[in-house]
Amino acid sequence: MEITKHLFLNLSLLIILLFFGLLILEKSKKFTFSKPSLVLIFSFLILLCIQISYNPVPYARYDLRIIPLVLGGLYVGIGPILVLSLLILRSFYGLNLGFLQTSVLYTPLIIIFWRMYPWFWKQVPVRRIFTTVCMGMILSIITVLGMSFSNTQTNWFDAWFAYLVIPSLGIGILSYSIEFVIKNTEMRQQLIKAEKLKAVEQMGAAISHEIRNPLTAASGFVQLLQDDYLPRQKRKEYLSIVKEELHSAERVIQDYLTFAKPDLETFEELNVKSELRQIINILQPLANQNSVEIITDFSVIGFIKGDRQKFRQCFINVLKNAIESMSHGGHLTLSTEYSQNCITIRVTDTGVGMTKEQLDRLGEPFYSTKGKNGTGLGMMVVYSIVRALDGEIWVDSEVGKGTIFQFEFPALTNFLNMTDSKANEG
Ligand code: ADP
Ligand code: MG
Repeated sequence: MEITKHLFLNLSLLIILLFFGLLILEKSKKFTFSKPSLVLIFSFLILLCIQISYNPVPYARYDLRIIPLVLGGLYVGIGPILVLSLLILRSFYGLNLGFLQTSVLYTPLIIIFWRMYPWFWKQVPVRRIFTTVCMGMILSIITVLGMSFSNTQTNWFDAWFAYLVIPSLGIGILSYSIEFVIKNTEMRQQLIKAEKLKAVEQMGAAISHEIRNPLTAASGFVQLLQDDYLPRQKRKEYLSIVKEELHSAERVIQDYLTFAKPDLETFEELNVKSELRQIINILQPLANQNSVEIITDFSVIGFIKGDRQKFRQCFINVLKNAIESMSHGGHLTLSTEYSQNCITIRVTDTGVGMTKEQLDRLGEPFYSTKGKNGTGLGMMVVYSIVRALDGEIWVDSEVGKGTIFQFEFPALTNFLNMTDSKANEG
């Protein structure tokens, strides 16, 4: 039972590690590791197998290295590199008869993996699992046959049982899990796409309604303007109403476009402090009009990666809401904090605040308490931009006291190098 015991131990270790890997993949948003890191991971697994292998005679090592080899070769397409890395790793354990057998068995696999990988991904999942199991089985059989050359004391029943059952079982379980995760991810992506399409459709319908109102009003006034005997004063008044209505239609379209296309277009390094200063400059007139005093407390450094236009739009919407909530004056405090890997931006106002129900509905399309003056799209846009920037939002509010918006964005840590290289360029 020696071989069976060893291989089972080896299998449990592989399953635990590969499950961890799959879990990490599941969690990561992009569902990819880079090829070099995959080569490292699979080589490590192979090394682990060789390290804990069963060696009845000093020169031979029996283990489950075929599992990471087959899975890496077929699912990831790094078979040829893995075979080379296996041979190199094995050579550290002695250039003996075992190494010779390993080379004879595995070298042809370089070509087989290379040819099979494109074919493999064209198959349906069940056939992919079947293929990996078969390949594992063939390699196992060759290994046991090779064993008969090298040592005679082996219990053959043990060897055949161990090599026919355990690798196939392991490869089967692991390829099934890999297929499961792949299918899950695909389904989730399709769902997100469908959801987004649905949302955009609904928005389109709602928006045509939202735009029609101001347009109808505007065209009504244009009709009135056609009257030749209209007094000059009235004409001016009507024209300014038409302008205002057209402006509000345009605002709705602008907000909608930002929502429908939240993916960031250009990624650049943004200096949070100077971006926020510019936004304050834009909004200063509105603040003055409402007698709002803007107080700032910025950390010295703080860079994030993102689209400048979208970042501005996001904070203009938030600050505008804050100013609008203080129609009788107040304080708007803007502060930033920089820590190792994230940047916190806090926007605090002393405005009317929100009830629990209002807070829950924040970000819902067309939810506004401002009647004709609001589009109810601002916060929805804010949420979609923050999501696209990999950030997070917390809101806390108390009616009559005010509201705090807290944002957290991943900080750009190598900005010092960037600014250095910029300085050198300049
Ligand atoms: P709009 O500003 O056009 O009404 P938004 O999506 O920007 O639409 O905001 C939705 C609603 O959220 C606002 O109508 C307001 O009731 C509430 N709100 C947002 N920010 C604040 C704030 N800082 N203080 C109080 N209420 C706010
Ligand atoms: Mg708003």
